[in-house]
Amino acid sequence: MRALVTGGAGFLGSHLCEYLLAKGMKVVCMDNLLTGDISNIAHIHHENFLFINHDVTNYIYLDGELDFILHFASPASPIDYLELPIQTLKVGSLGTHKALGLAKEKNAVFLLASTSEVYGDPLIHPQKEDYWGNVNPIGPRGVYDEAKRFAEAITMAYHRFHGVETRIVRIFNTFGPRMRLHDGRVVPTMLRQAIMGEPLTIFGDGSQTRSFCYVSDLVEGIYRLLTSNHSDPVNIGNPREMSILQFAEKIKAITGTSSEIVFEPLPVDDPKVRQPDISKAKTLLGWEPVVPMEEGLKKTFEWMAQRIKHLSQSAS
Ligand code: NAD
Repeated sequence: MRALVTGGAGFLGSHLCEYLLAKGMKVVCMDNLLTGDISNIAHIHHENFLFINHDVTNYIYLDGELDFILHFASPASPIDYLELPIQTLKVGSLGTHKALGLAKEKNAVFLLASTSEVYGDPLIHPQKEDYWGNVNPIGPRGVYDEAKRFAEAITMAYHRFHGVETRIVRIFNTFGPRMRLHDGRVVPTMLRQAIMGEPLTIFGDGSQTRSFCYVSDLVEGIYRLLTSNHSDPVNIGNPREMSILQFAEKIKAITGTSSEIVFEPLPVDDPKVRQPDISKAKTLLGWEPVVPMEEGLKKTFEWMAQRIKHLSQSAS
């Protein structure tokens, strides 16, 4: 079996590459390193692993047979997609089109990394796959949300019109080692602040909720979906919901930091709640998360502390 992972040098993509290699697959990792880092895959010395530096918004040529395409290329953190709005729209639209074209040519199963952001600021809680969402198309976050909504639409069009085998995973907030220290997402930001002894930043009053999934659980769910026969979207995430304020308290307890909590203005269109309904994943894939949040946070904390130490040693 041979798989292509676009965005394979990113946080999730690099974990997926390792997982698929461990399953005995040959893995081609394609990435233009826009928001990813070669250090995420530099340790993979495996004869079945190949890295190709390529922007997937351009025509994708790949020699040989291909069984699976996992399309993960896209800026994913709010800081990234607000700084890279056109690239975000292009990779969600043109990049998905190119990746689907390759899936059609190679007769490969295509899996799209979609997102809970397709639900926008949801009016239904928790979010089920049949909810169509509440997205502001012209707000600053629209570049990401609408790119992913388009990506889902073109994926279904290739499935219905060209008969391509497709899967759509709606990923909810996931965390773990290899997240960038400054990518602006809640988990790496608060862990970094705790490690550096800086105040923990909360946007708004902290009553907005999020549900965080550890990366190994997510990767397992994605693999089960990939190897299933379900073409409709499936939520993968951890339904354990908490307010950002509660989350900050948890970070304080786990890291033992004495950092205080500071409050800053809420960004435009920030979702007020976020929690996956995972009944579909449970029934169709027999999947549910197994890693307790505290355990995942400890692992990520240890990794980040090492990373910060390494960076400060190489700077001095
Ligand atoms: P990431 O930024 O670490 O990884 C994205 C990768 O895509 C990077 O390596 C980047 O260089 C690459 N990329 C971007 N544009 C590209 C292009 N035009 N051509 C080739 N490569 C390109 O982010 P991540 O958190 O690993 O997210 C991966 C995917 O999962 C994204 O599609 C994201 O939308 C989706 N997702 C992630 C989460 C999460 O919580 N991490 C939640 C929902 C959805």
